[in-house]
Amino acid sequence: METKPKYLYKNSKRLDGRNLDDYRKMKIKMDVVPNAQGSAEVIFGKTKVTAAVHGPRVMHPRRLALPDKALLRAKYDMFSFSVEDRKRPGPGRREIEISKVTAEAFRSVVFLEKFPRTVIDLFVSVTQADASTRITGINAASLALAAAGIPMRSLVVGVTFGKIYDEKGVGHVAIDVDKPEDQWGMADVAYARAPATGDVVLLQMDGDMTKEEFDKGKKMADKAIDVVYKAQIKALKDKFEVSK
Ligand code: ADP
Repeated sequence: METKPKYLYKNSKRLDGRNLDDYRKMKIKMDVVPNAQGSAEVIFGKTKVTAAVHGPRVMHPRRLALPDKALLRAKYDMFSFSVEDRKRPGPGRREIEISKVTAEAFRSVVFLEKFPRTVIDLFVSVTQADASTRITGINAASLALAAAGIPMRSLVVGVTFGKIYDEKGVGHVAIDVDKPEDQWGMADVAYARAPATGDVVLLQMDGDMTKEEFDKGKKMADKAIDVVYKAQIKALKDKFEVSK
């Protein structure tokens, strides 16, 4: 959207017709990259992200290997056709940052100590971007790691939340922000948890929110996370039951 809209929320509806606590239509597809040890595609509305896992495999060059655990690396990128405006090819600061926070979100969750001197490579590629791509990628990465059979303390599940304005300029907290809400909204938060351990593994905020707004958004996101968590478990059960 080129010009700032007069409102992102009016008559109790967001621009795409959602309520404040609605997430976009979510879909999960497993095994989308047959050559990888594990892979999955996760879709939230028009945001589509594929994650693929290679490893654990012997680390080359060997001097980069960790003696007591696996090194978990993540590489996030957006295909040039994933956005409407022209995207600069290659990794910029944003891609480097998202790769770093993605790897960090999984380092406390994966039993890295079971695979010393190896590397686990996590690739996260955005095929279509309509905001919340890092969190969609985290959900896909969680599924790809589990599908690869890599032991984890918990799956990782995320949902974004943000603050959007009505025609009077009053802010309202909403979950799963899309592109206009990310671009023009008053704040947005990327939030991911490991439900089985209770840990928050990713939390990043742009913009301003009061503590009350933050708590409200987090509560709404937590409810959606419970649903996405169940969907992740179902996708994995279906996969392993089919391939029995
Ligand atoms: P996230 O995708 O995790 O919300 P950002 O807040 O950095 O991360 O990006 C928000 C959205 O802005 C992206 O999902 C994408 O739709 C858009 N975007 C980001 N970088 C670019 C880019 N280089 N060109 C065009 N659109 C972009």
